[in-house]
Amino acid sequence: MAQSICLIDTSKCMGCRGCQAACKQWNQLPAEKTTFEGSYENPPRFSADTWLRVAFREHAGNNSRVDWYMAKLGCMHCTDAACMQACPAGAIYRSDEGTVNIDQVKCIGCNYCVTACPFQVIGFDRLTSKTRKCTFCHDRLVSGMPPACAQSCPTGSITFGDRRDLVARGANRVDQLKAAGKTNATLYGLNELDGTKMMYVLADSPEKYGLPADPQVPVQTRIWNAIFTPLRLLVIVAVAFGLWSNRSQTKEIEQAKRSNE
Ligand code: SF4
Ligand code: SF4
Ligand code: SF4
Repeated sequence: MAQSICLIDTSKCMGCRGCQAACKQWNQLPAEKTTFEGSYENPPRFSADTWLRVAFREHAGNNSRVDWYMAKLGCMHCTDAACMQACPAGAIYRSDEGTVNIDQVKCIGCNYCVTACPFQVIGFDRLTSKTRKCTFCHDRLVSGMPPACAQSCPTGSITFGDRRDLVARGANRVDQLKAAGKTNATLYGLNELDGTKMMYVLADSPEKYGLPADPQVPVQTRIWNAIFTPLRLLVIVAVAFGLWSNRSQTKEIEQAKRSNE
């Protein structure tokens, strides 16, 4: 099970958003009210209640044609995970199944993981002061079920299975796409961040799907991790005190405002 991944073949995605709905349904995430921002991508960004979005990108194609680029996007479950290195509370951990998850009890809501993630997939919940993101449906994995998004995809764009099999299948598909003229086709996530548990067959360059071409752990996150990991307990207390003090001051200001009204 530790070697299982999802292969997302974007050349098979028709943008039905079945995966998006399945993610919301399985994880009991409420819908969000959004407004049209000039793109079919909806919701337009990740949040504590939106862990999966389907990219709908329009690019100029041949003969004045518009080419659509669609892909299911979300946490990549990186081997070299910036979020884990950034978290001062040790709340982000790798499970036995290889998923990267956030312990909601340990999270202190500092948002360091949100800024460190090169894919910007972590959302902050203002009500609970916790961060949340895709769990790779860890609760389903441990029960022997595939992630809800993979289960729901009607075109087979998302496949769950053994890493070696899916890497071979993905490499074959990339070869087919290249032979068909898609010279920029690539297997994304094979080498990026030492390998990711969400891997993509892209028919064109990653940026066209809204993915970074060369995702990296920010240098400041690596330095932070190297210096502060041995001092973790001290850092947790200092950051938690800073957050508590900020919130107390905000409350005092609000109370003072109310009593002056
Ligand atoms: S995609 Fe972002 S949140 Fe997910 S494991 Fe990688 S760094 Fe962490
Ligand atoms: S693996 Fe589960 S939590 Fe992650 S995007 Fe798919 S359905 Fe959502
Ligand atoms: S369910 Fe499959 S085909 Fe539909 S949007 Fe998601 S990945 Fe694409």
